[in-house]
Amino acid sequence: MNISAKSSSVLDEAHAILDRLGVDKSAYTDGSMVSFSPITGEKIGKLKTVNAKGAAAAIEEAHAALQTWRLTPAPKRGELVRLLGEELRAAKADLGRLVSIEAGKIPSEGLGEVQEMIDICDYAVGLSRQLYGLTIATERPGHRMMETWHPLGVVGIISAFNFPVAVWSWNAALALVCGNSVVWKPSEKTPLTALASQAILERALKRFGDAPAGLSQVIIGGREIGEALVDHENVALVSATGSTRMGREVGPRLAKRFARSILELGGNNGGIVCPSADLDMALRAIAFGAMGTAGQRCTTLRRLFVHESVYEELVPRLKRAYASVSVGNPLDSAALVGPLVDKAAYDGMQKALGEARAHGGSVHGGDRVNLGHPDAYYVKPALVEMPKHEGPVFEETFAPILYVMKYSDFDAVIADHNAVGAGLSSSIFTLDMREAERFLAADGSDCGIANVNIGTSGAEIGGAFGGEKETGGGRESGSDAWRAYMRRATNTINYSKALPLAQGVSFDIA
Ligand code: NAD
Repeated sequence: MNISAKSSSVLDEAHAILDRLGVDKSAYTDGSMVSFSPITGEKIGKLKTVNAKGAAAAIEEAHAALQTWRLTPAPKRGELVRLLGEELRAAKADLGRLVSIEAGKIPSEGLGEVQEMIDICDYAVGLSRQLYGLTIATERPGHRMMETWHPLGVVGIISAFNFPVAVWSWNAALALVCGNSVVWKPSEKTPLTALASQAILERALKRFGDAPAGLSQVIIGGREIGEALVDHENVALVSATGSTRMGREVGPRLAKRFARSILELGGNNGGIVCPSADLDMALRAIAFGAMGTAGQRCTTLRRLFVHESVYEELVPRLKRAYASVSVGNPLDSAALVGPLVDKAAYDGMQKALGEARAHGGSVHGGDRVNLGHPDAYYVKPALVEMPKHEGPVFEETFAPILYVMKYSDFDAVIADHNAVGAGLSSSIFTLDMREAERFLAADGSDCGIANVNIGTSGAEIGGAFGGEKETGGGRESGSDAWRAYMRRATNTINYSKALPLAQGVSFDIA
């Protein structure tokens, strides 16, 4: 099916997809929260929202579902996630297209986001038979010590607009196999893809048969609904993805009631191009990392440090790539760069470019591109040559701005690279083993993700995903990230006839 924005409105296409996926029409036509497509700026939904009382009711229902789900054997829980993966495969084209409509992603990125959902489901199915603990040597004879991992409780998910569905699946697939129930508060900018994902999950639940009602829920609303999730005593863990500003509010509130958090916050990701770099490779990686998704990935490349010996060769090529990149409507063109999410994003970009100029930066690109939709914000990605690492370079501006700086000394460039608040992703382009290893060493990149000869964005689900410092410290997805969704119990069993105390303590009662 290929209804282009020219032959039919974006709204019509979005509603046709939601209809095919089985979403109740009244949920997105009869409410008060308006959603827009960044592609045309057109209104595409009027969402029914919940209030704080409704959010609490959903949480309590999820808490009731938890009581049986946590006793369901983990491999059986995995079966539900396997079915979810199957339903996602069947719905990939529709959901990917809806991601493009609602978040403005180009088709391969919209589909790629759904592929990431499928991948995490596959991963979680395998994991459902591998939720293992250690058996540990004990100091006492006739004893055995081991770790058991139990379900944690209700997992709250707060997600950002730029990965409207993948972030939910990273959390939900793991949370569900770990025996938890889930309550999801999606971004107010992308509620339709959330309703669609929930409908797809409901298909899987129906085929599964006997999962408890209310096991996984979506609550539509603004920030205050996120706050209701954060503050509810029955939510054991909140996985919150969004800006560092949001994390600063959510983190202390969760800490106050000793709830767990996974914070996945802003990034201000850097790349270093060394004298020995394969410049062809670096050019492609930088272009995708900095301009892909219109600079609206948490892992977008925002700061580039180029060694003075290759600056004059690389930077003019980069400028040509910037000047020639296609910006356009992702629904009816092969453009590589789609729209910014909204006017606030455009204004933020222009403000940062103004500050860069005030600090002596030389700006290439950054202008608005007129596609005939006054409420849609398309821009030429901006490359900014900065005399120094200063001013707006320290901030994450969620738009396609790449600050480029020249360096001469390797130690100094590592220090500049690490000098920002965020610590999400980083990369180095070098064929020099010493530079590569130093970048990955304890005194190298301070980020949660450090790559060699690969850009900063486009992580695979097999590794743990997340970052340090103002990125929040959370880890999601692969490796042992599942442990955050479970509660660890240390069990010591005495099968002897004596009661020796640890550390040789004696306590002989008469
Ligand atoms: P945002 O912070 O504006 O909103 C994110 C979510 O948090 C939304 O659902 C919002 O309703 C909710 N929220 C906001 N304030 C809240 C509060 N006080 N209490 C509870 N919930 C609250 O972010 P955005 O504009 O949607 O997304 C862009 C940001 O997200 C960027 O900074 C980007 O780097 C970051 N991001 C990080 C990751 C990561 O994995 N580290 C992934 C994607 C996006």
